[in-house]
Amino acid sequence: MNPSKDSAAGVDSSPPAGGPVLMTLEGAAFGYSRSPVIAGVDISVMRGDFLGIVGPNGAGKTTLLRGMIGLLKPIEGSVRFGELSGRRPVIGYVPQVQALDSIFPLTVGEVVTMGAYHRMRRLSLSSKKERNDLGSVLERVGMAGQRKELFASLSAGQKQRVLIARALMTRPDILLLDEPTSGVDQAGEKAVMDLLGALNRGGLAVVLVCHEMDMVRENVRDVLWVSRGRIERGSVEEMLSAAMVRDRLEGGQ
Ligand code: ADP
Repeated sequence: MNPSKDSAAGVDSSPPAGGPVLMTLEGAAFGYSRSPVIAGVDISVMRGDFLGIVGPNGAGKTTLLRGMIGLLKPIEGSVRFGELSGRRPVIGYVPQVQALDSIFPLTVGEVVTMGAYHRMRRLSLSSKKERNDLGSVLERVGMAGQRKELFASLSAGQKQRVLIARALMTRPDILLLDEPTSGVDQAGEKAVMDLLGALNRGGLAVVLVCHEMDMVRENVRDVLWVSRGRIERGSVEEMLSAAMVRDRLEGGQ
């Protein structure tokens, strides 16, 4: 594939200059019981990307995200990873807050610690370095003061920032988020998006599913528009004007 050109869309999908390729989906199809929901997906995620996955309900946004995380294997095509100093890029995943509301009574510190489970034997961090990691990650998301509070007692926006902190414990190169501002009030939404913007400026590639167009317009750099089983990539200006108008004209949502 030529990563600089998205032929299906006729849109120049060049990434911001300088970022190495973290992940490439080539001719990928994802779906359930071998029946594709989306197909012909040709996209790359580069360091520095800030991508919003946008489209009508039921179009396949979450399905695409699941494919990128590796929860769904491609029915066709491939998902390949780039190389960063001889290692595979790490993917951090942030689920919807609502998916975790029934979580047992854990403190903020314990929920974030779970992000380092691959390095742990117990639900405690064994080394001083890991405890320092926890402290600095909580600082980064602005939740250091709430470390001993119960996760369940937090606002939706605070919970979301704790889940981002949990994902940061894996030291990700790409952060994938499923509707990170769903159920979050306006102030909380701004805090979450400001945090993601800061992480992105720090070098993290951010990919999020989102259905609030104003939030997409104000925050993300590029859009992956999911509609009728296909994906197009373009800048926010291109995709949220032309694609939306075309979709509406063609009877989409
Ligand atoms: P979106 O996130 O854009 O709302 P989804 O990716 O959730 O869309 O769903 C796309 C299509 O895949 C829908 O028709 C939905 O019914 C179907 N789908 C989603 N999850 C499953 C599943 N686990 N098994 C079978 N079909 C599914």
